Amino acid sequence: MKKHNFSAGPCILPQEVLQQASDAILNFNNDDLSLIEISHRSAPFVAVIEKGRSLALELLGLENKGYKALFLQGGASLEFLMVAYNLLQTKAAYLNTGTWADKAIKEAKAFGEVIEVASSKDKGYSYIPKGYAIPEDVDYFHCTSNNTVAGTQIKEFPETKGLMVCDMSSDIFSRQLDFEKFDLIYAGAQKNMGPAGATLVIIKEEILGKVERHIPAMLNYQTHIDKDSMFNTPSVFAVYVSTLTLQWLKDLGGIPFIEKVNNQKAALLYDEIDRNSLFKGIVATEDRSIMNATFVLTDPTQKETFEKLCKEAGINGINGHRSVGGYRASMYNALPLYSVQVLVDVMKVLEKNSIA
Ligand SMILES: *Cc1c(COP(=O)(O)O)cnc(C)c1O
Repeated sequence: MKKHNFSAGPCILPQEVLQQASDAILNFNNDDLSLIEISHRSAPFVAVIEKGRSLALELLGLENKGYKALFLQGGASLEFLMVAYNLLQTKAAYLNTGTWADKAIKEAKAFGEVIEVASSKDKGYSYIPKGYAIPEDVDYFHCTSNNTVAGTQIKEFPETKGLMVCDMSSDIFSRQLDFEKFDLIYAGAQKNMGPAGATLVIIKEEILGKVERHIPAMLNYQTHIDKDSMFNTPSVFAVYVSTLTLQWLKDLGGIPFIEKVNNQKAALLYDEIDRNSLFKGIVATEDRSIMNATFVLTDPTQKETFEKLCKEAGINGINGHRSVGGYRASMYNALPLYSVQVLVDVMKVLEKNSIA
């Protein structure tokens, strides 16, 4: 039986998408060829990448609004520097809410002045700073919508007159936001969209061409826009699976539908964490992530029993990030509510056994 997969990334994908993807590996488009042995410029694959790009904009409500969707490579980590390469002329403002934000800041510093408007590093990134000011004379403001490692999530985005750039790697397509607020959104596919190897970039085309430096072709967003994400060979398999997942999401009812399910899953788990005296959450309640729930045991002697019960129940991937410890249950779009119920039941059994 398939395990209950709470892995933080790469992570769970819809079972029907995996089935379609395996079929396409053997025989894509009924052409008696594999998806991964045909030209990326062949009509059937061009149709796939075009569909993926348009589905991404459609699901976010950003069609016909000056945005382009690109499938790039290099992960979100390459975006940390591409964003600065393409947009940072003199200074940029960054919100430091976690490991990934911190890495983005380090990369940007090579291109100009970085103003850290606020940071929660002093408290182990256990909350989202609020009430900070964003200087008006910066080239852009950068934030991370969901902090995959610590388990916090920005619920209210700040107002800024300038450009807004957001790393949405671990919560894109999971909740409704006013996506028009953002000028550039990027996300590694492997958290809520597909296999590792593709990075989705959503960019308002008019923001480009403002920096004076020479940008190498491969790192220039304009290159990829001009070449319809085909400047070089795209990661065909990752793009294909991402497109299938976006179609799966659209067929379910899009973001409004999945957001409801995601809220149900998160409420089920957090309610148990708060109710069960053997567990406690580790981040500020109001900033808790709907995608990645982090928690610890209040009684460390229960560790072995808890992990044994999880294993017996077929629960996979709930160990916390190596920098945080404890547990992290990632509840991405494809994780069924039922899997969360299985985890909650294990938590209840642990409590019952500990009292007996
Ligand atoms: C996983 C993750 C990254 C890093 O993504 P890569 O694709 O491995 O480079 C960056 N930001 C966030 C928020 C993430 O969750």
